[in-house]
Amino acid sequence: MTDLTKRTWAEIDLSAIGHNYHAIRAQLPEGCRFLGVVKADAYGHGALRVSSLLQSLGAEYLAVSCLDEAIELRHGGIEIPILILGHTPAEYTKVLLDYSLTQTSSALAKALEYSEAASRLGGRLKMHIKLDTGMARLGYLCDGALFEEGVQNVITSCGLPGLDFEGIYTHFSVSDETDEGSRAFTKKQFRLFQAVIGEVASQGGFHFSIRHCANSGAVVNYPETALDMVRPGLLLYGYGGENRFDLRPAMRLVSTISTIKHQEPGTDVSYGRHFRTSRRTRMGVVAAGYADGIPRLSSNKCSYRVAGADAPQLGTVCMDMCMVDLTDIYDAEVGSEVEIFGPNNDICRIADAAQTIPYELLCSVSKRVPRVYVRGSY
Ligand SMILES: *Cc1c(COP(=O)(O)O)cnc(C)c1O
Repeated sequence: MTDLTKRTWAEIDLSAIGHNYHAIRAQLPEGCRFLGVVKADAYGHGALRVSSLLQSLGAEYLAVSCLDEAIELRHGGIEIPILILGHTPAEYTKVLLDYSLTQTSSALAKALEYSEAASRLGGRLKMHIKLDTGMARLGYLCDGALFEEGVQNVITSCGLPGLDFEGIYTHFSVSDETDEGSRAFTKKQFRLFQAVIGEVASQGGFHFSIRHCANSGAVVNYPETALDMVRPGLLLYGYGGENRFDLRPAMRLVSTISTIKHQEPGTDVSYGRHFRTSRRTRMGVVAAGYADGIPRLSSNKCSYRVAGADAPQLGTVCMDMCMVDLTDIYDAEVGSEVEIFGPNNDICRIADAAQTIPYELLCSVSKRVPRVYVRGSY
Protein backbone atom coordinates (compact mmCIF):
# COMPACT_ATOMS: atom_id res chain seq x y z
CA MET A 1 0.00 0.00 0.00
CA THR A 2 1.29 3.44 -0.81
CA ASP A 3 1.22 6.09 1.90
CA LEU A 4 -1.13 8.11 -0.30
CA THR A 5 -3.98 5.74 0.37
CA LYS A 6 -3.54 5.49 4.11
CA ARG A 7 -7.19 6.03 4.82
CA THR A 8 -8.84 2.69 5.50
CA TRP A 9 -7.46 -0.73 4.74
CA ALA A 10 -7.88 -4.37 5.66
CA GLU A 11 -4.77 -6.05 6.92
CA ILE A 12 -4.87 -9.76 6.12
CA ASP A 13 -2.51 -11.85 8.18
CA LEU A 14 -1.72 -14.87 6.04
CA SER A 15 0.20 -16.43 8.90
CA ALA A 16 -3.01 -16.38 10.95
CA ILE A 17 -4.76 -18.27 8.17
CA GLY A 18 -1.86 -20.72 8.10
CA HIS A 19 -2.09 -21.12 11.85
CA ASN A 20 -5.85 -21.69 11.64
CA TYR A 21 -5.41 -24.24 8.87
CA HIS A 22 -2.99 -26.25 11.01
CA ALA A 23 -5.17 -25.86 14.12
CA ILE A 24 -8.18 -27.28 12.25
CA ARG A 25 -6.15 -29.98 10.57
CA ALA A 26 -4.82 -31.15 13.93
CA GLN A 27 -8.40 -32.01 14.97
CA LEU A 28 -9.17 -34.16 11.94
CA PRO A 29 -9.03 -37.92 11.84
CA GLU A 30 -6.15 -39.51 9.96
CA GLY A 31 -6.62 -39.32 6.19
CA CYS A 32 -9.46 -36.81 6.30
CA ARG A 33 -9.20 -34.35 3.43
CA PHE A 34 -9.38 -30.59 3.89
CA LEU A 35 -11.57 -28.46 1.65
CA GLY A 36 -11.08 -24.74 2.24
CA VAL A 37 -14.15 -22.65 1.51
CA VAL A 38 -12.99 -19.56 -0.37
CA LYS A 39 -16.28 -18.35 -1.79
CA ALA A 40 -17.14 -14.64 -1.71
CA ASP A 41 -13.51 -13.67 -2.22
CA ALA A 42 -12.52 -15.90 0.69
CA TYR A 43 -14.98 -14.14 2.99
CA GLY A 44 -13.44 -10.84 1.94
CA HIS A 45 -9.84 -11.92 2.55
CA GLY A 46 -8.89 -12.29 -1.11
CA ALA A 47 -9.67 -15.63 -2.75
CA LEU A 48 -6.51 -15.99 -4.77
CA ARG A 49 -4.12 -15.14 -1.95
CA VAL A 50 -5.91 -17.44 0.48
CA SER A 51 -6.22 -20.24 -2.08
CA SER A 52 -2.54 -20.05 -3.00
CA LEU A 53 -1.66 -20.31 0.65
CA LEU A 54 -3.99 -23.27 1.23
CA GLN A 55 -2.67 -25.00 -1.86
CA SER A 56 0.89 -24.58 -0.67
CA LEU A 57 -0.02 -25.89 2.79
CA GLY A 58 -1.49 -29.07 1.36
CA ALA A 59 -5.24 -28.50 1.33
CA GLU A 60 -6.81 -31.09 -0.97
CA TYR A 61 -9.80 -29.12 -2.21
CA LEU A 62 -11.27 -25.63 -2.46
CA ALA A 63 -14.88 -24.56 -2.79
CA VAL A 64 -16.39 -21.48 -4.36
CA SER A 65 -19.91 -20.40 -4.95
CA CYS A 66 -19.99 -19.92 -8.70
CA LEU A 67 -18.18 -20.42 -11.98
CA ASP A 68 -16.63 -16.94 -12.13
CA GLU A 69 -15.02 -17.41 -8.74
CA ALA A 70 -13.56 -20.74 -9.86
CA ILE A 71 -12.17 -19.31 -13.10
CA GLU A 72 -10.46 -16.51 -11.19
CA LEU A 73 -8.60 -19.11 -9.17
CA ARG A 74 -7.58 -21.18 -12.20
CA HIS A 75 -6.31 -18.04 -13.97
CA GLY A 76 -4.33 -17.28 -10.83
CA GLY A 77 -2.56 -20.62 -10.98
CA ILE A 78 -4.60 -22.72 -8.56
CA GLU A 79 -4.32 -26.35 -9.62
CA ILE A 80 -5.98 -28.32 -6.83
CA PRO A 81 -9.59 -29.44 -7.31
CA ILE A 82 -12.27 -26.76 -6.98
CA LEU A 83 -15.88 -27.57 -6.13
CA ILE A 84 -18.60 -25.16 -7.23
CA LEU A 85 -21.20 -25.21 -4.48
CA GLY A 86 -23.88 -23.31 -6.36
CA HIS A 87 -25.65 -23.67 -9.66
CA THR A 88 -23.91 -23.40 -13.01
CA PRO A 89 -26.19 -23.34 -16.07
CA ALA A 90 -25.59 -26.46 -18.15
CA GLU A 91 -24.66 -24.37 -21.19
CA TYR A 92 -21.36 -23.70 -19.39
CA THR A 93 -20.46 -27.37 -19.22
CA LYS A 94 -17.63 -26.84 -21.68
CA VAL A 95 -16.13 -24.19 -19.41
CA LEU A 96 -16.44 -26.51 -16.42
CA LEU A 97 -14.59 -29.20 -18.37
CA ASP A 98 -11.96 -26.86 -19.79
CA TYR A 99 -11.06 -25.58 -16.33
CA SER A 100 -11.26 -29.02 -14.66
CA LEU A 101 -13.87 -27.88 -12.18
CA THR A 102 -16.09 -30.04 -10.00
CA GLN A 103 -19.76 -29.14 -10.26
CA THR A 104 -22.45 -29.79 -7.68
CA SER A 105 -25.50 -31.69 -8.85
CA SER A 106 -28.39 -30.58 -6.70
CA ALA A 107 -31.20 -32.47 -8.48
CA LEU A 108 -31.69 -35.25 -11.01
CA ALA A 109 -33.01 -32.73 -13.56
CA LYS A 110 -29.71 -30.87 -13.42
CA ALA A 111 -27.63 -34.04 -13.62
CA LEU A 112 -29.56 -34.92 -16.79
CA GLU A 113 -28.69 -31.55 -18.34
CA TYR A 114 -25.00 -31.81 -17.47
CA SER A 115 -24.90 -35.39 -18.70
CA GLU A 116 -26.40 -34.45 -22.03
CA ALA A 117 -23.97 -31.54 -22.47
CA ALA A 118 -20.88 -33.44 -21.34
CA SER A 119 -21.71 -36.41 -23.57
CA ARG A 120 -22.16 -34.14 -26.56
CA LEU A 121 -18.75 -32.59 -25.83
CA GLY A 122 -17.16 -35.98 -25.35
CA GLY A 123 -15.98 -35.04 -21.86
CA ARG A 124 -16.45 -36.37 -18.36
CA LEU A 125 -17.59 -33.79 -15.83
CA LYS A 126 -16.55 -34.36 -12.25
CA MET A 127 -19.52 -33.98 -9.93
CA HIS A 128 -20.56 -34.08 -6.30
CA ILE A 129 -24.16 -34.88 -5.36
CA LYS A 130 -25.71 -32.48 -2.89
CA LEU A 131 -28.41 -33.87 -0.62
CA ASP A 132 -30.95 -31.70 1.14
CA THR A 133 -31.13 -33.35 4.55
CA GLY A 134 -32.84 -30.47 6.29
CA MET A 135 -31.30 -27.17 5.22
CA ALA A 136 -34.06 -26.70 2.63
CA ARG A 137 -31.79 -24.95 0.17
CA LEU A 138 -30.06 -26.77 -2.68
CA GLY A 139 -30.03 -30.53 -2.89
CA TYR A 140 -31.84 -33.75 -3.75
CA LEU A 141 -34.91 -34.09 -1.53
CA CYS A 142 -34.63 -37.28 0.51
CA ASP A 143 -36.34 -36.69 3.85
CA GLY A 144 -39.35 -38.61 5.14
CA ALA A 145 -41.71 -39.86 2.44
CA LEU A 146 -39.22 -38.74 -0.23
CA PHE A 147 -36.43 -41.01 0.98
CA GLU A 148 -36.85 -43.79 -1.58
CA GLU A 149 -37.36 -41.35 -4.44
CA GLY A 150 -34.28 -39.41 -3.35
CA VAL A 151 -32.19 -42.59 -3.29
CA GLN A 152 -33.44 -43.56 -6.75
CA ASN A 153 -32.68 -40.09 -8.13
CA VAL A 154 -29.13 -40.30 -6.83
CA ILE A 155 -28.70 -43.79 -8.32
CA THR A 156 -30.10 -42.63 -11.67
CA SER A 157 -27.75 -39.60 -11.64
CA CYS A 158 -24.74 -41.79 -10.93
CA GLY A 159 -25.52 -43.96 -13.93
CA LEU A 160 -25.66 -41.09 -16.41
CA PRO A 161 -23.05 -40.91 -19.17
CA GLY A 162 -20.51 -38.11 -19.25
CA LEU A 163 -20.50 -37.61 -15.49
CA ASP A 164 -18.05 -38.79 -12.87
CA PHE A 165 -19.57 -38.77 -9.39
CA GLU A 166 -16.60 -38.37 -7.14
CA GLY A 167 -18.41 -37.12 -4.06
CA ILE A 168 -21.61 -36.61 -2.15
CA TYR A 169 -22.35 -33.98 0.45
CA THR A 170 -24.92 -32.19 2.54
CA HIS A 171 -25.01 -29.00 4.56
CA PHE A 172 -26.02 -28.47 8.20
CA SER A 173 -28.30 -25.62 9.16
CA VAL A 174 -27.68 -25.45 12.92
CA SER A 175 -24.34 -27.17 13.55
CA ASP A 176 -23.02 -24.00 15.18
CA GLU A 177 -25.73 -24.18 17.86
CA THR A 178 -25.35 -26.51 20.81
CA ASP A 179 -28.79 -26.46 22.43
CA GLU A 180 -30.62 -29.76 22.61
CA GLY A 181 -33.01 -29.08 19.72
CA SER A 182 -30.18 -28.07 17.39
CA ARG A 183 -28.11 -31.08 18.40
CA ALA A 184 -31.00 -33.40 17.65
CA PHE A 185 -31.60 -31.72 14.29
CA THR A 186 -27.95 -31.94 13.24
CA LYS A 187 -27.76 -35.58 14.24
CA LYS A 188 -30.91 -36.30 12.28
CA GLN A 189 -29.39 -34.60 9.21
CA PHE A 190 -26.25 -36.67 9.60
CA ARG A 191 -28.17 -39.93 9.99
CA LEU A 192 -30.24 -39.18 6.89
CA PHE A 193 -27.08 -38.36 4.93
CA GLN A 194 -25.52 -41.68 5.88
CA ALA A 195 -28.75 -43.58 5.27
CA VAL A 196 -28.98 -42.29 1.69
CA ILE A 197 -25.33 -43.14 1.06
CA GLY A 198 -25.93 -46.62 2.47
CA GLU A 199 -28.96 -47.25 0.25
CA VAL A 200 -27.24 -45.90 -2.86
CA ALA A 201 -24.43 -48.38 -2.16
CA SER A 202 -26.64 -51.36 -1.44
CA GLN A 203 -29.29 -50.75 -4.12
CA GLY A 204 -27.19 -49.09 -6.81
CA GLY A 205 -23.71 -50.34 -6.06
CA PHE A 206 -22.32 -46.79 -6.09
CA HIS A 207 -19.62 -45.76 -3.65
CA PHE A 208 -18.49 -42.17 -3.39
CA SER A 209 -14.85 -41.64 -2.68
CA ILE A 210 -15.45 -38.28 -0.95
CA ARG A 211 -18.36 -38.00 1.48
CA HIS A 212 -18.43 -34.63 3.23
CA CYS A 213 -20.74 -32.58 5.39
CA ALA A 214 -18.81 -30.77 8.12
CA ASN A 215 -18.87 -26.98 7.92
CA SER A 216 -17.15 -24.94 10.63
CA GLY A 217 -19.84 -25.58 13.23
CA ALA A 218 -19.70 -29.32 12.67
CA VAL A 219 -15.89 -29.45 12.66
CA VAL A 220 -15.99 -28.02 16.16
CA ASN A 221 -19.16 -29.53 17.61
CA TYR A 222 -19.56 -32.82 15.74
CA PRO A 223 -16.15 -34.32 14.97
CA GLU A 224 -17.84 -37.62 14.12
CA THR A 225 -19.19 -35.97 10.93
CA ALA A 226 -15.72 -35.48 9.39
CA LEU A 227 -16.01 -38.57 7.13
CA ASP A 228 -13.70 -38.25 4.08
CA MET A 229 -13.40 -34.45 3.99
CA VAL A 230 -14.33 -31.38 6.01
CA ARG A 231 -15.51 -28.09 4.58
CA PRO A 232 -14.72 -25.21 6.93
CA GLY A 233 -14.89 -21.56 5.94
CA LEU A 234 -15.25 -19.28 8.94
CA LEU A 235 -12.76 -21.20 11.11
CA LEU A 236 -10.03 -20.54 8.56
CA TYR A 237 -10.55 -16.83 8.98
CA GLY A 238 -10.26 -17.09 12.74
CA TYR A 239 -13.79 -17.20 14.09
CA GLY A 240 -16.33 -19.75 15.25
CA GLY A 241 -16.55 -22.57 17.75
CA GLU A 242 -16.17 -20.22 20.71
CA ASN A 243 -12.53 -20.26 19.78
CA ARG A 244 -11.93 -23.71 21.23
CA PHE A 245 -9.27 -24.25 18.55
CA ASP A 246 -7.34 -21.17 19.58
CA LEU A 247 -7.77 -19.53 16.20
CA ARG A 248 -6.45 -16.15 15.18
CA PRO A 249 -8.55 -13.50 13.41
CA ALA A 250 -6.98 -13.04 10.00
CA MET A 251 -8.45 -9.68 9.10
CA ARG A 252 -7.88 -6.39 10.83
CA LEU A 253 -10.03 -3.59 9.46
CA VAL A 254 -8.13 -0.40 10.11
CA SER A 255 -8.91 3.23 9.52
CA THR A 256 -7.41 6.49 10.67
CA ILE A 257 -8.43 9.58 12.59
CA SER A 258 -8.74 12.29 9.97
CA THR A 259 -9.77 15.20 12.20
CA ILE A 260 -10.10 15.94 15.88
CA LYS A 261 -12.35 18.68 17.22
CA HIS A 262 -13.75 19.71 20.53
CA GLN A 263 -17.54 19.78 20.71
CA GLU A 264 -19.42 21.66 23.38
CA PRO A 265 -21.85 19.78 25.66
CA GLY A 266 -25.25 19.47 24.02
CA THR A 267 -23.92 19.05 20.47
CA ASP A 268 -25.86 16.67 18.24
CA VAL A 269 -23.43 14.48 16.33
CA SER A 270 -24.03 13.21 12.77
CA TYR A 271 -27.12 12.53 10.65
CA GLY A 272 -30.41 12.24 12.43
CA ARG A 273 -29.04 13.81 15.65
CA HIS A 274 -29.07 10.47 17.44
CA PHE A 275 -26.21 11.29 19.80
CA ARG A 276 -25.88 14.40 21.95
CA THR A 277 -22.71 15.16 23.83
CA SER A 278 -23.16 15.39 27.57
CA ARG A 279 -19.74 16.87 28.20
CA ARG A 280 -17.11 18.78 26.32
CA THR A 281 -16.03 16.07 23.91
CA ARG A 282 -12.81 15.57 22.06
CA MET A 283 -14.30 14.02 18.95
CA GLY A 284 -12.40 12.13 16.30
CA VAL A 285 -13.64 11.77 12.74
CA VAL A 286 -12.76 8.29 11.45
CA ALA A 287 -12.16 7.94 7.71
CA ALA A 288 -14.44 4.91 7.26
CA GLY A 289 -18.17 4.46 6.95
CA TYR A 290 -20.79 2.09 5.68
CA ALA A 291 -19.39 2.26 2.13
CA ASP A 292 -16.27 0.62 3.56
CA GLY A 293 -18.23 -2.07 5.38
CA ILE A 294 -19.10 -0.67 8.80
CA PRO A 295 -22.73 -1.62 9.36
CA ARG A 296 -24.93 1.42 9.84
CA LEU A 297 -27.04 -0.62 12.24
CA SER A 298 -24.08 -0.63 14.62
CA SER A 299 -24.25 3.17 14.91
CA ASN A 300 -23.84 4.46 18.43
CA LYS A 301 -23.46 0.94 19.86
CA CYS A 302 -19.80 -0.01 19.49
CA SER A 303 -16.35 1.11 20.24
CA TYR A 304 -13.19 0.91 18.15
CA ARG A 305 -9.65 0.45 19.33
CA VAL A 306 -7.57 3.64 19.22
CA ALA A 307 -4.16 4.10 20.85
CA GLY A 308 -4.67 1.04 23.05
CA ALA A 309 -8.07 2.09 24.38
CA ASP A 310 -11.73 1.66 23.46
CA ALA A 311 -13.16 4.72 21.76
CA PRO A 312 -16.97 4.76 21.80
CA GLN A 313 -18.45 5.37 18.36
CA LEU A 314 -20.78 8.38 18.41
CA GLY A 315 -23.87 9.04 16.31
CA THR A 316 -24.92 7.61 12.97
CA VAL A 317 -22.28 5.93 10.83
CA CYS A 318 -22.09 7.90 7.56
CA MET A 319 -21.18 6.59 4.12
CA ASP A 320 -17.49 7.53 4.34
CA MET A 321 -16.95 8.57 7.95
CA CYS A 322 -18.01 8.05 11.51
CA MET A 323 -17.21 9.73 14.77
CA VAL A 324 -15.58 8.47 17.96
CA ASP A 325 -15.11 9.85 21.45
CA LEU A 326 -11.44 10.45 22.18
CA THR A 327 -11.97 12.56 25.29
CA ASP A 328 -10.24 10.07 27.58
CA ILE A 329 -7.73 8.78 25.05
CA TYR A 330 -4.96 11.32 25.33
CA ASP A 331 -2.61 9.47 23.01
CA ALA A 332 -5.01 9.57 20.07
CA GLU A 333 -4.13 12.14 17.46
CA VAL A 334 -4.79 12.93 13.83
CA GLY A 335 -3.41 9.99 11.87
CA SER A 336 -3.82 7.49 14.70
CA GLU A 337 -4.90 4.04 13.60
CA VAL A 338 -8.43 2.97 14.41
CA GLU A 339 -9.02 -0.78 14.61
CA ILE A 340 -12.64 -1.23 13.64
CA PHE A 341 -12.38 -4.96 14.15
CA GLY A 342 -9.54 -7.43 14.45
CA PRO A 343 -7.38 -9.10 17.07
CA ASN A 344 -7.83 -6.20 19.50
CA ASN A 345 -11.49 -5.49 18.86
CA ASP A 346 -13.76 -8.50 18.60
CA ILE A 347 -15.79 -8.49 15.39
CA CYS A 348 -18.61 -10.20 17.29
CA ARG A 349 -19.32 -7.05 19.28
CA ILE A 350 -19.99 -5.14 16.09
CA ALA A 351 -21.87 -8.05 14.56
CA ASP A 352 -24.11 -8.30 17.63
CA ALA A 353 -24.75 -4.58 17.62
CA ALA A 354 -25.75 -4.77 13.97
CA GLN A 355 -27.88 -7.89 14.57
CA THR A 356 -25.75 -9.90 12.22
CA ILE A 357 -22.91 -12.42 12.20
CA PRO A 358 -19.16 -12.11 11.60
CA TYR A 359 -19.59 -13.73 8.17
CA GLU A 360 -21.61 -10.78 6.91
CA LEU A 361 -19.18 -8.19 8.24
CA LEU A 362 -16.18 -9.93 6.66
CA CYS A 363 -17.96 -10.18 3.31
CA SER A 364 -19.08 -6.56 3.51
CA VAL A 365 -15.62 -5.02 3.57
CA SER A 366 -15.97 -3.21 0.27
CA LYS A 367 -13.95 -2.97 -2.90
CA ARG A 368 -12.74 0.48 -1.91
CA VAL A 369 -10.80 -0.98 1.01
CA PRO A 370 -7.37 -2.16 -0.11
CA ARG A 371 -6.28 -5.54 1.22
CA VAL A 372 -2.80 -5.42 2.62
CA TYR A 373 -1.14 -8.80 3.07
CA VAL A 374 1.13 -9.35 5.98
CA ARG A 375 2.85 -12.56 6.86
CA GLY A 376 3.77 -12.64 10.50
CA SER A 377 6.19 -15.21 11.77
CA TYR A 378 4.68 -18.04 9.80
C1 LIG B 1 -20.34 -21.58 3.01
C2 LIG B 1 -20.40 -23.04 3.06
C3 LIG B 1 -19.54 -23.76 3.90
C4 LIG B 1 -18.63 -23.11 4.91
O1 LIG B 1 -19.40 -22.67 6.01
P1 LIG B 1 -18.68 -22.16 7.33
O2 LIG B 1 -19.80 -22.00 8.29
O3 LIG B 1 -18.05 -20.86 6.99
O4 LIG B 1 -17.70 -23.18 7.72
C5 LIG B 1 -19.53 -25.14 3.81
N1 LIG B 1 -20.36 -25.77 2.95
C6 LIG B 1 -21.23 -25.12 2.15
C7 LIG B 1 -22.12 -25.89 1.25
C8 LIG B 1 -21.29 -23.74 2.18
O5 LIG B 1 -22.15 -23.09 1.41
